[in-house]
Amino acid sequence: MRILVTGGAGFIGSAYVRTLLDGGYPGCAEAEVTVLDALTYAGNTDNLPLGRPRLDFVRGDITDTELLRSVVPGHDWVVHFAAESHVDRSVRGAAAFARTNVLGTQSLLDACLAAGVDRFVHVSTDEVYGSIDRGSWTEDSLLLPNSPYAASKASSDLMARAYWRTHGLDVRITRCSNNYGPYQHVEKLVPLFVTRLLTGGTLPLYGDGTNVREWIHVEDHCRAVHLVLTGGRAGEVYNIGGGTALTNRRLTELLLGLCDAGWDRVRHVEDRKGHDLRYAIDDAKIRAELGWRPRVSFEEGLSGVVEWYRANPAWWKSLEAAR
Ligand code: NAD
Repeated sequence: MRILVTGGAGFIGSAYVRTLLDGGYPGCAEAEVTVLDALTYAGNTDNLPLGRPRLDFVRGDITDTELLRSVVPGHDWVVHFAAESHVDRSVRGAAAFARTNVLGTQSLLDACLAAGVDRFVHVSTDEVYGSIDRGSWTEDSLLLPNSPYAASKASSDLMARAYWRTHGLDVRITRCSNNYGPYQHVEKLVPLFVTRLLTGGTLPLYGDGTNVREWIHVEDHCRAVHLVLTGGRAGEVYNIGGGTALTNRRLTELLLGLCDAGWDRVRHVEDRKGHDLRYAIDDAKIRAELGWRPRVSFEEGLSGVVEWYRANPAWWKSLEAAR
């Protein structure tokens, strides 16, 4: 069994690869893994156990069709994490998002089709659904993405589905809520706030902090992706939610508490343009069909993350210096 993981040097992809190599996914303990990653500002080989016998690392871009023609053949399964992933960056400039998330995904799908890849999991996000005032999104909800990031992910979801419908490529799509965990780039909310708290800085909280997000530990997300890969159905979409819905204000309060800090450390900043107010995901399908449920409690997970950033300053200080 050979598995190609794109974006495997990023936050979620590397968590997936580490668990895969550690034998954490039943039936795949002997899998050979290739990570294909362009090592953008978000990719970091320190996230990976390079040198392990079953791991091969290829530095390359998913829009490079020639490279894909040489790398993809010989792999049975592809798990596609590679993307430009930060909403704020997409607000400042969307070109890289269209290029990697849309064109890159399409190039990869073409290469998988040509190489006869058996299964392809396209890792997507709940942000493709837009914002919801009440209730929650099922897999059949309309795609109404609001940020350029979300629009590029929705476009790639549709492209992935089209390769299943048109060409019969076995594509499965996952749409997950907000992840937190170790090795997340310091530009994202949880690590940004934790590292600011650890270094005596202030926390830039968007608007009034009432935006609601649903949180999931990265290990729970990766286990769900793997279940979809091994037990899901071709052409299907699977929502993945963590079940912990919090306003950004409440999340900030929890992080302040974990770091023994007070509200004087919080600075309200102008809201993000087009900021979605509320995300809420209905993940009854993956629970019923594949028996998945989150295992990491939010309280334990969040305090574990604070501890991880506290114990690994060298990892995140190098990213801060490069920002
Ligand atoms: P990340 O930004 O940490 O990692 C992305 C990785 O992709 C990096 O290693 C980067 O170098 C690589 N990459 C970027 N452009 C590339 C290109 N053109 N060719 C090859 N590699 C490239 O992102 P993440 O948070 O780990 O997210 C991974 C996936 O999960 C993304 O598809 C994202 O949309 C999705 N997702 C993320 C979240 C979340 O909360 N972070 C939630 C749901 C879904």
